[in-house]
Amino acid sequence: MSRLIPHSEQRTANDQMIKSPRGTRDLLPPDTALWNFVETAVRDVFRAYNFHEIRTPIFESTELFARGVGEETDVVMKEMFTWEDRGRAESDRGQSLTLRPENTAGVVRAYIEHKLWDRGLNKLFYIGPQFRRERPQKGRYRQFYQIGAEVIGPAAAGSQSPARDAEILELLATLLDRVGITQWTLELNSVGSPADRAKFNDTLRQALAPAVEKMCADCQRRAITNPLRVFDCKVPEDQPIIETLPTITQFLNDDSRAHFEAVKQILNAVSIPYVENPRLVRGLDYYTHTAFEFTHGALGAQNAILGGGRYDGLSEALGGPPAPGIGFAIGEDRLVLSLTASAESVLRKPDAYIAPLGAGMNREAARLARELRRHDLVIDLGDESFRLKKSFETADKMRARYILIVGENEVAANAFSLKHLASGEQVTVPRAELAQQILRK
Ligand code: AMP
Repeated sequence: MSRLIPHSEQRTANDQMIKSPRGTRDLLPPDTALWNFVETAVRDVFRAYNFHEIRTPIFESTELFARGVGEETDVVMKEMFTWEDRGRAESDRGQSLTLRPENTAGVVRAYIEHKLWDRGLNKLFYIGPQFRRERPQKGRYRQFYQIGAEVIGPAAAGSQSPARDAEILELLATLLDRVGITQWTLELNSVGSPADRAKFNDTLRQALAPAVEKMCADCQRRAITNPLRVFDCKVPEDQPIIETLPTITQFLNDDSRAHFEAVKQILNAVSIPYVENPRLVRGLDYYTHTAFEFTHGALGAQNAILGGGRYDGLSEALGGPPAPGIGFAIGEDRLVLSLTASAESVLRKPDAYIAPLGAGMNREAARLARELRRHDLVIDLGDESFRLKKSFETADKMRARYILIVGENEVAANAFSLKHLASGEQVTVPRAELAQQILRK
């Protein structure tokens, strides 16, 4: 048990300011208005496509990610915040837990645990924080936020259809348009079936053999355990070698090819532009067939706004029934960074600031604030400590549209001085008409 230190002593013993941990940040107003603008818009889009929200725990058992994301991935090997539970109960003690680095594994776990297929729940979305111990830079944080969705279900319910892949991609184009992001590029690839990938991995292993000694330590390991992951390498010196490697395209079997073609045909039909990128294999192991990323030029080095793909074997890998699925995760931090809208433009300013003149007016001011807020007006309420001049300054600073003066004369007349701050126009308005008057301009 730690010793209780008197407050005065604490300050001298430890007067260093405490900052948020590396790679985390406080989202402050007015920026939070942009975040809310984005979340409201995406919720509307999800509703239009009949997706329902799911909220899974922030931490899960480590094994979920080892199995669901892949032991060989950078995320699982290097980036997870993992700890051993010190719980008192025998069943808790020693259990390895991890802050979720992504949300798909958690959603699929919940899908299996609650047999969501029985309830016909197969289109789910989430919004929430994820955690990866990455080197922080602009657009890359250790706590970051993802907006994601998954379509998952028994093959009989059509979850395996290329129509699902295309619908997800069309949804994403709609969603980006809705938040005002126009300059995106959809990069598309097929990583084929597990059998296609096994053949491709063999070929890659052979292709890498003569060059692998010159590559980074990660690639040397990947070349043996999971050669496909070599395409995740960001080391500049390795890129010329990676560029000479074969791509997965020529290893796709007829079914994989047909699936990919069908997705592209629907995209053409709904006029969603894309570019094919045969080297796009995505950082997570569970993808099959369609893999995609949306990038945005204005973001610089961390230019991927979102990524996703099909993961037909994931449910089985997590001990569930066959349940093909496809999903995506948008990096909300990056989405907000690429918005052209400013926080100011989406911030709702107060409709009125109520200024009580003197302590006796607090009660009346509180009643008026309550009445006006019921009309869905944004009302800020002053108190008796402000004189008239200070009240005007405060109302100006918060950019309220109106200031409403509550003084003894006004209360007696049951009519209040309402001043429109931009025009300087002042009128006396009977109490019953205040809301209407404020709503007008
Ligand atoms: P992933 O789960 O790796 O497929 O990532 C999906 C999206 O999440 C990426 O396209 C990024 O926009 C975002 N993202 C991933 N890692 C981070 C991070 N460390 N910081 C901010 N955004 C991230």
